[in-house]
Amino acid sequence: MLDYADPRDPLTHPGMAVSGSARGRVGMAVHNGAVPHSSSDIDTDLSPDPAFPADVDSALVHAAHRAMSLWWASNARDLPWRRGRTDAWGILVSEVMSQQTPMSRVVPYWLAWMDSWPTPQDVAAASTAEIITAWGSLGYPRRALRLQECARVLTRRYGGTLPRSYEELVALPGVGDYTASAVLSFAFGRRIAVIDTNIRRVLSRVFRGVESHGGSATKSERRLADAVLPGEGHAVWNQSVMELGAVVCTAKNPLCDSCPLSSRCLFLARGRPGLGEGRTRPRQRFAGTDRQVRGIVLQALRSRSVLSRRELERLWDDHIQLDSCIASLDEDGLIDILPDSSVTLPA
Ligand code: SF4
Repeated sequence: MLDYADPRDPLTHPGMAVSGSARGRVGMAVHNGAVPHSSSDIDTDLSPDPAFPADVDSALVHAAHRAMSLWWASNARDLPWRRGRTDAWGILVSEVMSQQTPMSRVVPYWLAWMDSWPTPQDVAAASTAEIITAWGSLGYPRRALRLQECARVLTRRYGGTLPRSYEELVALPGVGDYTASAVLSFAFGRRIAVIDTNIRRVLSRVFRGVESHGGSATKSERRLADAVLPGEGHAVWNQSVMELGAVVCTAKNPLCDSCPLSSRCLFLARGRPGLGEGRTRPRQRFAGTDRQVRGIVLQALRSRSVLSRRELERLWDDHIQLDSCIASLDEDGLIDILPDSSVTLPA
């Protein structure tokens, strides 16, 4: 595993090289040695994209690499899955848990999870009730079920190890483009651009001077991410840009005064036009939602093996909403409904 123990890591070897693509046209980025996200991502159309600049400023890219490697060396959060302290499975678990949940909240859950089940085989052998209970208040508990399905496939098909190809990784339950790329980059040291909302926002602001759009990553955002990916130190680049987007270059209140890229950022130089407009979606209210009701039912089941109908009704006054949530939890495989209408976690 390379991750932060990579001898080419700029923490110990400052000065990451600028990729060949960064010196040339962005349209050639996917042909410069970076692992394409899928065969369908290989873009043979090299004609200029009107929505995207024809060139990337190589001096800007080079300067950004150096600034980020220095920033990372003294600012990276000391998370337990970093600095070579876990394996590919631990990284995959951290990435699944971190989707839609802040990393600071993930840490105690990740530590407890890896302590109980350090390998995919351990997760595969656990009961589903144990898995859902261990997920605690991380939210979106279907991720826990998908992680267990993933562990079972890994155990059955790969002997409990993670495959090293993008195609095999994205075929695993619960693993999408982002998670597959993160595992390839952070665990296996593969040269591949990792693209999440934070990275898209930072790259778009710094190199294009505009906000990134919501929704899925566009082709030009992928081109940009591939184009600016360094030839060396790419795992650190991916993680440092992601970290910058999480703690400094946030969607609504970027802390430009303390940003390592402030002297080079096109977005800042242009007066931060349309700041915040690129937010993917407004923050959703939680109180009173089905999400809250489902969470209350699961939380109650984590401390009691069975909840009777009467106990369920005491959890939430709106019994129509309650029944709807119980039905959806059952449909998702997160609970079992017993013949007397009591509920339990799945065996
Ligand atoms: S200078 Fe501001 S907008 Fe530009 S990358 Fe840094 S925090 Fe983001």
